[in-house]
Amino acid sequence: MAGPCAVESRQQILAAARGVAAAGASMLRGGAFKPRTSPRSFQGLGREGLELLREASRETGLPVVTEVLDPRDVELVAEHAAMLQVGSRSMQNFPLLREVGRSGHPVLLKRGAAATIDEFLLAADYILAEGNDRVILCERGVRGFDPSTRNLLDLAAVPILQSRTDAPVVVDPSHGTGRADLVPVMARAAVAAGADGILVEVHPDPESALSDREQALRLTEFGDLVEDLERWLPLAGRRIARTLNTATSTPEAGAST
Ligand code: PEP
Ligand code: MN
Repeated sequence: MAGPCAVESRQQILAAARGVAAAGASMLRGGAFKPRTSPRSFQGLGREGLELLREASRETGLPVVTEVLDPRDVELVAEHAAMLQVGSRSMQNFPLLREVGRSGHPVLLKRGAAATIDEFLLAADYILAEGNDRVILCERGVRGFDPSTRNLLDLAAVPILQSRTDAPVVVDPSHGTGRADLVPVMARAAVAAGADGILVEVHPDPESALSDREQALRLTEFGDLVEDLERWLPLAGRRIARTLNTATSTPEAGAST
């Protein structure tokens, strides 16, 4: 899964979508509703961003995963995306977990920055309790003590989670390190740890990114990463999915299946 932190413009998301599709991504990511630490930072394009994601999905055939922040927006986001992302800051937003559970839509649940494995699994249980078992867990790093990296990427969480649940476990080395230079090697490490997928931030022009610019890969760097992973994946008995079964009630969201 690859794409920019945030949808910023039509030109930006289409360039990102075309680039990651050509490089071999299976899904497009991009935030329309951004959970920013400061209320004065760019908050995302909202509904317009969702429409741009849908356009990018139609053009490239890549299904979209995008964050939903507010329980009141679940229906709207589900109409535009194949998968709902519940972000790290929302991992224990219980009304939101229940609402994405009720939607029946696939959910990418990210680990809270200070959440234990037990708390992470119990958060997933809120979604399952609503009858929705289409949950993917995402390790994205926990709060560490060392400012050398943005977070401390907990790769031991991958086999632990896999031993305790049937849900696929993916790794986000972008938020996990906060550094573009570390993303490729930690993606490789995630593969070695047995991850079922990788989520990476990619921007056509990282210097101009409105959020998370330090951790965004260029399109060429993402291409190199996919090539590199294709060499390592067979050692882990894995390959990159080229067609995904994300069929949902919204035809355009699942159009690539
Ligand atoms: C994101 O995926 O852009 C994001 C905000 O991630 P997290 O919730 O892991 O911080
Ligand atoms: Mn981000």
